[in-house]
Amino acid sequence: MTIDLSKADLTLIDHPLIQHKLTLMRDEKTAAAVFRQLLREIAHLMTYEVLRDLPMDQVEITTPLETIQSPKLAGKKLCFISILRAGNGLLEGMLDLVPSARVGHVGLYRDPETLRPVEYYKKLPRAIEDRLCIVVDPMLATGHSAVAAVQKVKDAGAINIKFVCLLTAPEGVVVFAAAHPDVPIYTAAIDRELNDHGYILPGLGDAGDRIYGTK
Ligand code: URA
Repeated sequence: MTIDLSKADLTLIDHPLIQHKLTLMRDEKTAAAVFRQLLREIAHLMTYEVLRDLPMDQVEITTPLETIQSPKLAGKKLCFISILRAGNGLLEGMLDLVPSARVGHVGLYRDPETLRPVEYYKKLPRAIEDRLCIVVDPMLATGHSAVAAVQKVKDAGAINIKFVCLLTAPEGVVVFAAAHPDVPIYTAAIDRELNDHGYILPGLGDAGDRIYGTK
């Protein structure tokens, strides 16, 4: 059955360099150190695209030759929010491009009885309502953690939110878009489906384990 994604605000960033690096990441033979580095490099390429519409101000500067009006990023520093722990793999690459960004973390675990995400950690920057907030997690699988994390960011006051991941499953995109139709999703690939354990197929396995070599 094909899932209709036409109602989701979904941007596929499928630059050839991203596709190539993603193929290397999917390969089970790729070592954790290489996997981490590839994720970082893909984060660079995706961040460039995700932040394409950042607002700019004109400021006056003086070059060695003359005084000009020149563009500079406007507004409060933006905020990256990592869904622990795999989100940190994407976060590191994004911080390479925007080192002055504020950083928040949301930690969730799945309750074995209810299968719903439960918060075990949350730390968000102040004045979140005035910042563009980019919530990051490499895998949008069932969508439940992403939905819960974005809700926590909204509850803290954020208004302008984007969600960035590496891989999506169609099932998770539908769940996320229904819960947060105002939050655009950026992904590097839309995979086929979820398996019975909530893993993305063909996917790349457990992103946290592959980043940190814990399996
Ligand atoms: N989380 C992962 O790390 N991998 C999946 O395939 C799904 C969720």
